[in-house]
Amino acid sequence: MLPAAAPCDVLRRVFGYEAFRGPQQEVIEHVCGGGDALVLMPTGGGKSLCYQVPALVRAGTGVVVSPLIALMQDQVDALRALGVRAGFLNSTQGPDERRATEAAFLGGELDLLYLAPERLRVPSTLSLLGRGAISLFAIDEAHCVAQWGHDFRPDYLALSGLHERWPDVPRIALTATATEATHTEIAQRLGLVDALHVVASFDRPNIQYRIAPKNEPRRQLLDLLRTEHPGDAGIVYCLSRRSVEQTAEHLTAQGILALPYHAGLDAAVRARHQSRFLREDGVVMVATIAFGMGIDKPDVRFVAHLDLPKSVEGYYQETGRAGRDGLPSTAWLAYGLADVVQQRKMIDESDGDRAHKQSLSRNLDAMLALCETVECRRVRLLDYFGQESGACGNCDTCLRPPESWDGTVAAQKVLSTVFRLDRERRQRFGAGQIIDILLGRRTAKVEQFDHHSLTVFGVGTDLAEGEWRAVVRQLLAQGLLAVDARHQTFALTDTSSEVLRGERPVRMRRDPVKPTRTRSRAARGGAPAVELAPEAAPVFERLRSWRGATAKEQGVPAYVIFHDATLREIATRSPATLDELGAISGIGENKLAKYGQGVLDTLDPPSIIGQNSDL
Ligand code: ADP
Ligand code: ZN
Repeated sequence: MLPAAAPCDVLRRVFGYEAFRGPQQEVIEHVCGGGDALVLMPTGGGKSLCYQVPALVRAGTGVVVSPLIALMQDQVDALRALGVRAGFLNSTQGPDERRATEAAFLGGELDLLYLAPERLRVPSTLSLLGRGAISLFAIDEAHCVAQWGHDFRPDYLALSGLHERWPDVPRIALTATATEATHTEIAQRLGLVDALHVVASFDRPNIQYRIAPKNEPRRQLLDLLRTEHPGDAGIVYCLSRRSVEQTAEHLTAQGILALPYHAGLDAAVRARHQSRFLREDGVVMVATIAFGMGIDKPDVRFVAHLDLPKSVEGYYQETGRAGRDGLPSTAWLAYGLADVVQQRKMIDESDGDRAHKQSLSRNLDAMLALCETVECRRVRLLDYFGQESGACGNCDTCLRPPESWDGTVAAQKVLSTVFRLDRERRQRFGAGQIIDILLGRRTAKVEQFDHHSLTVFGVGTDLAEGEWRAVVRQLLAQGLLAVDARHQTFALTDTSSEVLRGERPVRMRRDPVKPTRTRSRAARGGAPAVELAPEAAPVFERLRSWRGATAKEQGVPAYVIFHDATLREIATRSPATLDELGAISGIGENKLAKYGQGVLDTLDPPSIIGQNSDL
């Protein structure tokens, strides 16, 4: 598209950005010079530029391998809006379109070509690639090569062959998954041992992390949406398809524009819902974790989890889909006793060998430790990824430090109840029965099993039912109590006896009485964005409706035209000329030429008086 240019020129002219972010420059220079790279950056960190800029600087076409077939069209549209010559090859295309893209590639008329990984197993694709000029291979979502990962794709294993066939073409692998183990596995499987390894900071300061005790999840969710995120786009994650359906119905009945998404829905319905989420403003997607990978909608304002995620890695990726535009966003999770029981059971009952179950257990333990921490959530999250940080001021524990208390005696009461019930192995007793016994309630089930004659009967009236649930939950989280899946009951662990003998003190987190809630967006600490000035707010709304109409006309998502952050800056700075407009971040040469006049007209509509005087 441009004659050979320096990376910073491409950044300015094509993308409209002034400076590289974090490690972008180092990676880009390395890849431009022909070197391989493995890049770990959080969602929204700016991975795409790491391969898009080198693809524009180097001769030939940059081949991007991505599993996200459903998003390729939007990705290509976004690049074309920047004036970049991009195309894709995947199974959604008709033969004509495919042939046109192939011809463009062979003719050297493509800067970027997106491919699904399975394409690279097809000999005809390999032969096509062999006949064109390739500037680099970008392997997006590279964690898909990790075999124990949640997104494993067997086709990714074949990507290690690219190097043998094209030894001189640089490869850059990118992912937002950051644990040391995944990192090492990616490097090994893709043969990137000698590559430049870059790990960016994983902090996402504009996201406010909150984990709340689950009481009435639907009411809590509704409260969050109504008081903090009215009209905002967001994602609600649920574990099961059924709860996805029910939650979406519930929200819809409450007048919220909510759509379900899970693997059991018809592919066409899924595609339609995804497209509406991307294109329309303010859609709430209620989904299983099948939804979201690669979704680069920048203005997702909240991610809510109604069920406990299985790992911190998964949780961080899912919450990372909020606030890619850098504006304040919320990551909210509701978590309770039933979650811990359910997940422990699922691990117990899962297929796979001991090592696999152990790895699932470790993942869950780390997630539980995050939920029960009395420290800054962000410190814990970043620590999980091996990064140090200080208390953030923008998470629930920072905003409302929870108390911790000495739960040793309470723990002993629960454990000795379990010990006594344990003798009646044939029976299934859940947390409810334990709590009824501790509270001295003579329920039918208590009487039936003569539990009122146990010595622990009624010894727990110092705590309320909810507090006992929190105690049981934390014992499970700390591994001081186990779930016996086979007998559908609780069991003591090796460490339980230490607690019972008084050799091991137990610290617990006291659940806050009232939920943390920030009063307004402006009050959210640590967020980089500022509220719009009163005079800029209506201008921003005008720009948004201009953008909506333009997007509709051109059949692209609104953010492909300009991001909210760019519109906010325009509304605040009110540029009067194309030159002034071009200085705003996110407006490159192509967008300025294409949309500049439209923006200026929207800012300064021709006045009625002016029109009349022409008559
Ligand atoms: P990732 O793929 O890592 O999730 P993206 O590549 O989609 O992130 O980038 C996230 C957002 O940040 C995008 O809106 C992108 O345009 C913007 N961005 C990336 N690099 C820069 C930069 N150097 N300056 C300004 N904005 C940037
Ligand atoms: Zn914090």
